[in-house]
Order: sequence, then structure tokens, then C-alpha cells
Amino acid sequence: MFIIQNEWKGIAVDTDSIPEEFDARLKSLSENAGKKILFCGNNKERLKKIEAMDGPQLTCDQSPFGKAIFYPKVYARLLSMLQTRSCETAVITGSRQALKQAQNHNISNLFFCGGEELPGDLIVDLPDHIAQSWEDIEKAVRGESAGYLAEYCAERYADKKDDWQALRTIRTELKTFGGNTCPLIAAGRYFSQSDPRAYGHQLSKRILLHKWEDTAQTEIFTETYRQIIGSAICEKIDAVTRIPPKDSRQFDRFAAITRAAADDTGAEDLSEQLVCVKKYGSQRTLNRAEREANVKGAFEMKKEVKGKHIVLLDDILTSGATAAEAADELYLRGAEKVTVVVLAIKQNKNNFLDEKLVPIRCRKCGGEMQLRINRTTQEAFFGCRELYNKEAPCTYIEGYKKAMERRNSDAGFANESESKFLF
Ligand SMILES: [Zn+2]
Repeated sequence: MFIIQNEWKGIAVDTDSIPEEFDARLKSLSENAGKKILFCGNNKERLKKIEAMDGPQLTCDQSPFGKAIFYPKVYARLLSMLQTRSCETAVITGSRQALKQAQNHNISNLFFCGGEELPGDLIVDLPDHIAQSWEDIEKAVRGESAGYLAEYCAERYADKKDDWQALRTIRTELKTFGGNTCPLIAAGRYFSQSDPRAYGHQLSKRILLHKWEDTAQTEIFTETYRQIIGSAICEKIDAVTRIPPKDSRQFDRFAAITRAAADDTGAEDLSEQLVCVKKYGSQRTLNRAEREANVKGAFEMKKEVKGKHIVLLDDILTSGATAAEAADELYLRGAEKVTVVVLAIKQNKNNFLDEKLVPIRCRKCGGEMQLRINRTTQEAFFGCRELYNKEAPCTYIEGYKKAMERRNSDAGFANESESKFLF
């Protein structure tokens, strides 16, 4: 995934999902020295034309993308054809299915929207890169696309960026229970701890540390919110507040952040006025309807805010129930508009580890080897608990091969010639 991903050395292009009008420009991708590009597609004639161009070399006319069934071997095959490691490989696609498959295999991914905005329901499956134009794709291939603002900030806090506007924020809408609509601005992704993508993801880690009252994160997040608000909100802001802590005696991790945001924008800091008046339980296992019931009446705004544009801060947006309830309370007290700003949107869990592979055992301890990610190299490998992060006893491709070899009953795999895929 971007930023924690190593440099792209191999790129697989899902040609079928890219309109033919872009064919003349495909050449520009392979003009980047040292990168192998594999064009996959089912249209043989089109691939022949691509093959005949100066730049493109590798083509595959039996595209592994867009298969209707879950097809774990696809990615092992791509890596074999490109002869690259999982952490240095990217998929460029305009297909939702191929995007999800790449995410499940922890392979870097770029989603091409072709001039459109990112589809709203993709916010829980955000790609590493979003390309709205061909130039965006070229930038990403050259390694010049820095990605999401909050993720960049969490990763590279030390090197201040001059051009924050170039970093991406996600803009969408949050519907409240009371029938109001709030603009929602998010600046990154949050991966839960059980998602393997969380291992090397600085933003997810820092958000958790911040929740656990690690004040060292406050400085970084103060700057992050400042940059998000500065680059993504053009309208005048009258007041800033945040989702209050459940207990007023609890440490308010947003205190310094809202103060700085208010100072920056010349707005009023309403942190003291928005309080939590109901000890609602954890939202973790609840669905949206249950979350609504759980947070109903949880917040109280102690002051009229008639006609004001209020920026409401939170760190992770999951179902949006908490933010929606707090926004409703602000609207009830007269707010004209509530803009919700979050650091990250919780992503659908990647099922990288959930694949029904046949267990393979560690030669040393006999423990079951699972798909893991090396924290240093970001490379996917198979390892047991003991060897976790120390050495990779089995590479991604070897591990897959072993786990799949014993899975003969699986339709679609048994008949394929292994040698063809360079295993
Ligand atoms: Zn072992």
C-alpha cells in the first residue's frame, strides 16, 4: 500500500477495465526505466496492438482479473510473471473486483476512476492511489503520488510538505438520523489491528496510541487536522468542536487540537460546551441501527449555535453513528451547517488471512504457518508464530504453492499447468 509500500518494480495493468481510448498512452508507463509492466486483458487484438508498441513488453491474454469467483492464485501468478516480490508490485485497475482482490493480497493498488469522482461506497475499501486522469496514473508510476494527507503526515511528520493541497482528502456526505446531511472530510484509512495492513500503517498505529493517551501523538495530529481543515474547507468556520470523551473526568485527547484549529481559523472553540451525557457502550460489535440506539441522546450542546458553521472533529469514522448523533445535537441547537472532519475511515477488513488455504507447518516448530507481513521490508511471506518477523521461512509464492498443492479438490486450480506460471 502506498507510502509503506516499497518502490513499484512490477506493475500489472488490468487492461480490460481501462477504456481503449487510453491505449496510445499505455506506452508512457513503460518509459519508466527499471519497471516491468504486464498488460493483462481478454481482447487479443487489442493486446497485439499494445505488444507492437515500442515500450510495452509483457502481455497476458488470459486476464486473471475480473474473475467472478475468488481467485487467490491470481496474484501469485502475477508475481511469477513479473518476477517481482509482493511488496514491490502494484495493480492498476478500474474494476472494483480486481481492486478488492489486490487489497486482499496486500498488493499495492491504484484505482482508475476515469474522470469521475471516487464512487461513494468505496470509502470503506479505499485504494492506495486514486487516479482521476491518466496523468495521475503516470505520477503514481513515477512514485510522485503521495496519497492521503493524514497517512502522509503520520508517516513523514518530520519532513514538512510545502504542497499539502496536492495530498488527497476524501470528500463525501454523512446522513444523520435526524435527516440532516453533513459534508464529511476524511484524510486517510484506518485498519483494525486484526487486519494485516495495520502492521506497518503509521496512521492506524498513531490513532490507537492517541486513544491510549499517548500525548506524543497530539502534536502530529494537531498539524494534521490543521492541514486538512486548511486545504479542504473553503467556507468560513464559526466554531470548532469534537466528539467529547464519554466521561468528563477522562482525558480529552482533542483539547489541544480543537484549540489550535479554532485559533487558526479564527473560530470559537466549543469543546467545553459539547458534552457527553450518557455512558454509551462500545460500538464495536453493533450494526448501524444498534449503534443509533446506543448513542441516541448521548450528547448535549450547552449553548445555542444559531446559524453557525461548525467543524466537528473525530479520529476514526466507522459507521458514522457517533458523529451523526453529535451533528444532530448541533443542528437541534440551531447550527446552519456541520462539517465532520476525521483522520481516517475504518476500512472493511482485508481477508488476506482468512483464505481457506490448507495449513502448512513450520519445519522447525511444527506450528501452523500463516500469511504474514515483514515489518521492515513490507514483504508478504508465510511464517509460524515463533518466526514471525524474524525470518521468512517461506516466500509468498512458495507458501501459496504449498497451500494450494494440497487443495486439489478446488475447481479451477487442479487442471492448470504449474510450469506455465514459473513456480
Ligand atoms: Zn516455527
